[in-house]
Amino acid sequence: MEQAVFLQGRAKDGKCLLRDGYLFRIGKRTPKKSYYTCLVSKCSSTVCLDPDEKMVLSSNGIEHNHAANPAEIEVRKFHQKLRQNILDQPNTAIPQLYKETLSSIHASSEVLSQIPTFSGIKNYMYKVRASVRPPLPKTMEELQLDGIWSKTTDGSDFLMVDEGIGDNRIMIFCTLENLKLLCSGKNYLWMEPLR
Ligand SMILES: [Zn+2]
Repeated sequence: MEQAVFLQGRAKDGKCLLRDGYLFRIGKRTPKKSYYTCLVSKCSSTVCLDPDEKMVLSSNGIEHNHAANPAEIEVRKFHQKLRQNILDQPNTAIPQLYKETLSSIHASSEVLSQIPTFSGIKNYMYKVRASVRPPLPKTMEELQLDGIWSKTTDGSDFLMVDEGIGDNRIMIFCTLENLKLLCSGKNYLWMEPLR
């Protein structure tokens, strides 16, 4: 039996089934089968999957009434790779991940012209990033920094001081190395704290 292959698309399309160079989106789910229909709205080609959507059970045998679009598949592969990189590397900056993913694919100029610019896909990328991060605290009391959130990317302590309560809470972020450099300085420049 044939294994089902999915591609993650743009946010509004969700995941699509990839079969023989064509893309299908979920039509309906029943307890015994999941029905996927061709992404092109006037095409009647349908594929049936098992309820776990792991295997292709059958197709309705209707030929596609349009040509396959390999460029669209490549664009979706880019989206999928970008999404996976954001999930796998939660501490790498989003602009850097976009740049790295783009340079890792060997796309034709046709595909490149369909890949969204950074500003065009920025909101989606930050949404994916937010899904693996704790929600933002609403009060100072809710702000709890421990584990990886209190350390630098190489694992050194970064939260030096966390004292006081409410509006009087003071948090100082610095590494031991930076503190040593600060102590070795002969001159200090002072500025008013930003409020
Ligand atoms: Zn079709």
